[in-house]
Amino acid sequence: MIEIKNGRIYFYNTLKSDLRVLDFMCLSAYVCPVCKNVLRAYFVGNITPEALKEYMEKDTMKYAYEMGSTQGAQWIKLRDHSHKETCSWQIVGAISKGIDNSVKSFIDIHEVKIKDKQLLIRAIEEGVMPGFKKVPDEIGADLPMLIFKENDLLDTKNMSFDKKWELLRNLGKCIETVLETIRLPQ
Ligand SMILES: [Zn+2]
Repeated sequence: MIEIKNGRIYFYNTLKSDLRVLDFMCLSAYVCPVCKNVLRAYFVGNITPEALKEYMEKDTMKYAYEMGSTQGAQWIKLRDHSHKETCSWQIVGAISKGIDNSVKSFIDIHEVKIKDKQLLIRAIEEGVMPGFKKVPDEIGADLPMLIFKENDLLDTKNMSFDKKWELLRNLGKCIETVLETIRLPQ
């Protein structure tokens, strides 16, 4: 398991009591608020791919991380497809940091047109936009990332089939419809 706590990153395995807990100073870390997996971390320390495998309690997670080092510190990154296997939310824009950049990537990736991009950004910043969640840097050193789940965007429960169909095939329109209904704090 990987855990971020009090500015440190811990690697441990509750199933292997003889395996030493590793504990390093963490410089930046993003933890998915939904599945609680560490999405990314940057820390002062060293762990090899072979060692990391030992700390993974689930077999499916043994190869889930990419890693490397920059400027004397090491980074790990949960592979997108590994995240997808455990979570219905996905990171928006693989390298985008900050809500502005992430929304820009989102618009590019999905090729959507949104009249009021600033309104969408504000709604996400305020945490009132369904379908989007901010993922802060646990250490507070870097800008937040963004995760997205299309099925959470629109509450289609009381919607007619025609309306639902019209909105679900047009993501941009869908987002604008949602934006019309939300209330931003003053
Ligand atoms: Zn997740």
